Amino acid sequence: MRILKLQKKDFFPFLEVISKKAELWAPVAKQGGPPAETLPDPHWASLAKREKFSFERIQDFSKIAMNTTRTIIPPKKIMVPASFNMFHFDEKEYREDLSHVTNRILFGVHPCDIHGLLILDKLFSQAYSDPYYLEARKKTIILGLSCWPDEFCFCKSTHTDIIEEGYDLFFTNLESHFLVWIGSSRGDDLIRLAPDYFDERLTEKDIKTYINWQEERDNAFQTEINFTRLPDLMELKYKAPFWEEAGAACLACGSCSMVCPTCNCYNVVDKQFLGNRPGQRLRYWDSCTLTEYSEVAGGENFRGHKSQRLRLWYTHKLRAYVSKYGKPSCVGCGRCLVTCPVQIHAKSVADALEGHPVDAFWKKFAEEVSK
Ligand code: SF4
Ligand code: SF4
Repeated sequence: MRILKLQKKDFFPFLEVISKKAELWAPVAKQGGPPAETLPDPHWASLAKREKFSFERIQDFSKIAMNTTRTIIPPKKIMVPASFNMFHFDEKEYREDLSHVTNRILFGVHPCDIHGLLILDKLFSQAYSDPYYLEARKKTIILGLSCWPDEFCFCKSTHTDIIEEGYDLFFTNLESHFLVWIGSSRGDDLIRLAPDYFDERLTEKDIKTYINWQEERDNAFQTEINFTRLPDLMELKYKAPFWEEAGAACLACGSCSMVCPTCNCYNVVDKQFLGNRPGQRLRYWDSCTLTEYSEVAGGENFRGHKSQRLRLWYTHKLRAYVSKYGKPSCVGCGRCLVTCPVQIHAKSVADALEGHPVDAFWKKFAEEVSK
């Protein structure tokens, strides 16, 4: 694998060249959300004060947020939009609709999110091929970007803090320059569009700078989860009372699934129109934490209780995927930690499974209710 050096002054000129080839998408700062002073809970007030980020189409390079934490929604939204039309149909035929899939360059994807895409690659290509996902994946060039952990990141625990595949180029953001890893022939083609910006000669000082950066980043992680015990603990604690406690507090809002880079469930709905207009089959994101998810004809629900649905969500993440692929389908991005309104997330559930004290709203809620 080749590693090149790109001076920061040459970064925008390089983007200028490559963005002529495809739509450029990257993280930008996002406004919105409730004002911090209206939130009574210090956890939510402190989160409300932080900048949020979102992958958006870029027209002005200066809008690109280079030092971001996680985006609100992971890059799965580029591969599979939250809702889209799969095909039009009438009484004679159906016509596939791939109009939402365009050639894109997605810059700023962090290692954990590239691991998330690698997990989706397996899920959408092995048992059944998903043409919509695979077409979008084929047409999206991934430009990874290094990141710095905040207190909610735990990708070091899931071994997803570094990445060796799944990208076309990967930019490590150092003081005055980037080190750029070429991960594919498509990445190499991009470099060939502007070879003069890149330098193949790395000095001892460049290498030392990179090693120091790696060591400092490695030491910056504040949250740790021991994933090796969790598959067994999911089995051993299948009937533990904390599932009921978490279920009682859960709002069944589905936000945990929307933000998780590896959640991939979806539903399809047919939309028909009066007259001779063709119908549409719409596909949209779904979540096993939602009430209707396990509902069947006749109104029966296999997982009518929120605790059952939460347990299913965590069984998939922490046990089932490990049985099949040898690792959890959690990539340690921290999105569920900053999103769940009642703090049911990978860390608080792991603490409950381990029998550690749980510092989360849902636990306090259970203690209040039992008084
Ligand atoms: S379970 Fe939470 S931390 Fe893990 S990948 Fe999903 S959103 Fe990220
Ligand atoms: S666990 Fe949290 S985010 Fe997920 S459905 Fe329940 S309340 Fe919503």
